[in-house]
Amino acid sequence: MTADFTIVGAGIVGLLAARELAAAGAQVAVLDRGRPGGESSWAGGGILSPLYPWRYPEAVTRLAAASQAAWPGLAEALAAEAGVDPQWTRCGLLVGDLDPGEADTAREWAAGHGVPVEVLDKRGARALEPGLGEVGAPLLWLAEVAQVRNPRLVRALHRALERQGVEVRQGVEVRAIRTRAGRVRDLLTPSGTVPAGQVLVAAGAWSAGLLAPLGAALPVRPVRGQMILFRGPPGRLRRIVLSRGRYVIPRRDGHVLAGSTLEESGFDKSVTPEARRELVAEARRIAPVLAELPVVRQWAGLRPGSPTGVPFLGEHPEIEGLWVATGHYRNGLVLAPASARLVADLMLGRVPALDPAPYAPARAAA
Ligand SMILES: Cc1cc2nc3c(=O)[nH]c(=O)nc-3n(C[C@H](O)[C@H](O)[C@H](O)COP(=O)(O)OP(=O)(O)OC[C@H]3O[C@@H](n4cnc5c(N)ncnc54)[C@H](O)[C@@H]3O)c2cc1C
Repeated sequence: MTADFTIVGAGIVGLLAARELAAAGAQVAVLDRGRPGGESSWAGGGILSPLYPWRYPEAVTRLAAASQAAWPGLAEALAAEAGVDPQWTRCGLLVGDLDPGEADTAREWAAGHGVPVEVLDKRGARALEPGLGEVGAPLLWLAEVAQVRNPRLVRALHRALERQGVEVRQGVEVRAIRTRAGRVRDLLTPSGTVPAGQVLVAAGAWSAGLLAPLGAALPVRPVRGQMILFRGPPGRLRRIVLSRGRYVIPRRDGHVLAGSTLEESGFDKSVTPEARRELVAEARRIAPVLAELPVVRQWAGLRPGSPTGVPFLGEHPEIEGLWVATGHYRNGLVLAPASARLVADLMLGRVPALDPAPYAPARAAA
C-alpha cells in the first residue's frame, strides 16, 4: 500500500513530523538508511534552548518558544506511550564570559520575549552551581532552560510511532526522488522503488544532496560537532554551564557531556585527539570537579548547517508533493516539535499556528 506521506530520514525532525501526521489519521512511512535517530539527533547535547538565544533571528526564537512550551507534555506522553523516559529536566543554564555589553543585550531580549533571566556575580552563580570554575562574571542565569537525553528520546519516539501504526523502515537508503510532470512519483532505493504519495525530506545534513538533482538547491551543509562524556556519581554538577562556546551538561545519572566543536569537515564523522584534549581542558576549566572523573566516550555528529540557523520548512518550490524540513543546524532538538507541527500543518492543508513565510524553502533561491 502506498503511504499518504513518506518521510525520508528518521532523525528527530522526521520522527516528530511522522507523529504529527499520524495523529491526524494519515498513513505514514518513514525510511532511514541507518538506525532511527542514529545520526545528529543521537549525537547532540539535548539542550532545549539555543545556546546564546539573543544572538538568533526572530524566526528561530519563535520556533524555540513554541517548542519549549510543548516539550514537557511531549516528553511525558512519550514516556507513557513507549515506556522509555526521555528525562526532560529543567536544570537551568548559566552563561559566562560574555562579550562586552552582552549582558544588557541579553536582558533586553529576555524582557521582550518574556524569558526570565538574572544577571549574577560569581558568588551568586556559585550558589546555584557549586562546581563552577574559571568562568568570567557577570553570568546570566536562565532558570527555565531544560534538557532531554537524546538516545532515550529517539528510542521513545521510535517505539511510540510503531504503536501509532507508523511504519519505520531502517536500513533503507533513498538514492533518488523521482518525479513525473513536476510531481513526485516514487523513491529509488537499492532494493527497488517505493511508490509515494507525498514525500517529506528530513534527511538532516544529507538533505541538500538528495534534493540537488531536482533543482532549487538548498544551502544545507554538514557541520561536525564532537562531544565527550565523563562518568561520575549523580549530583556532582547541577546546571548546564556555557562559557566561550563550550558547555557541560549534567545528566541525572551522573554522566556529564561536554561539547562541542564546530568543524567544516564534509561528511567525515571521525573524532580527533585534538578535539578530545581541547574539550577535556575546557570542561575542566568550567567545572574543575570533572578532573576527578574519567572520560568514557567521544563521538561526533553532523549538524544540518544552514546560513542563519533558520530551518527550511515547507513545500519544494518546483515539485508538487515534495516537502522539506531541514537545516536546523545547532538547534534541532529544541526546535523540532514546532518545526514538525508547522510542516505537518502545511502538508495536511491546515492553517499553521506560526507564519510559515520565514521558513519557506523557496527563500533559498531568492
Ligand atoms: C555535537 C552536537 C551537539 C548538539 N547539541 C544540540 C543541543 O544541545 N540542542 C539542540 O537543539 N540541538 C543540538 N544539536 C543539533 C541537533 O542534533 C540537530 O539539529 C538535529 O538532530 C537535526 O535533526 P534531523 O532530524 O534534521 O537530522 P538527523 O538526526 O541527522 O537525521 C537525519 C536522518 O536522515 C537519514 N538519512 C540521510 N540521508 C538518507 C537517505 N538518502 N535515505 C534514507 N535516510 C537518510 C540519516 O540516516 C538520519 O537518521 C547538536 C548536534 C551535534 C552534532
